[in-house]
Amino acid sequence: MRLCFASNNAHKLDEIRPLLPAHVELLSLADIGCEEELPETQDTLEGNALQKAHYVWGNYGVPCFADDTGLEVNALDGAPGVYSARYAGPQRSSADNVQKLLRELPADADRTARFRTVIALVVGPSEDDEFTFSGEVMGRITAKERGAAGFGYDPIFEPEDLERTFAEMSGEEKNQLSHRARAVAQLTSFLKERYSVE
Ligand code: IMP
Repeated sequence: MRLCFASNNAHKLDEIRPLLPAHVELLSLADIGCEEELPETQDTLEGNALQKAHYVWGNYGVPCFADDTGLEVNALDGAPGVYSARYAGPQRSSADNVQKLLRELPADADRTARFRTVIALVVGPSEDDEFTFSGEVMGRITAKERGAAGFGYDPIFEPEDLERTFAEMSGEEKNQLSHRARAVAQLTSFLKERYSVE
């Protein structure tokens, strides 16, 4: 089975590849000749994931899935949430986003937070051909950045009950408990059941 992952984020592709059934051939956007920026203008994670997956199906006719992730910080009423990528501005810089988040949180703030990922799978033109899956992980925002692995907000997110940030873990460790891994696990079960792929 061939399935495109509708993202230009190489880190995400690396995380997802080992989690899918071995008989799923994962295609990147480059593999299907899609070089343009995907539209992502909705105000929910579900909406954005569906928008990206539908764009690829509609323009390239390839079964595909897309993910959208938000970091929800309790002391900030769930911000940055769906706006996590552009939290510090349209330049979408992870370094700027991390610095802004650390600035916004006073030293004595409730630092609990959660990462949430929604995956949308689109395998055809009708509404019956779209499916969504989600995963989340609770944790806290650290006082400063720690670790060099991963991407995005990983250096300031410590999953619950652990004293290391995602950026201080190997890819395999992050994949045992991350929001994205949990959403991909649901996608994988669905693919195995519906298409009998191993
Ligand atoms: P998107 O899902 O690519 O739109 O990501 C939204 C924002 O969250 C971007 O700034 C990403 O860098 C960040 N992000 C997405 N997934 C993760 C993750 O697993 N760890 C840390 N940051 C992430």
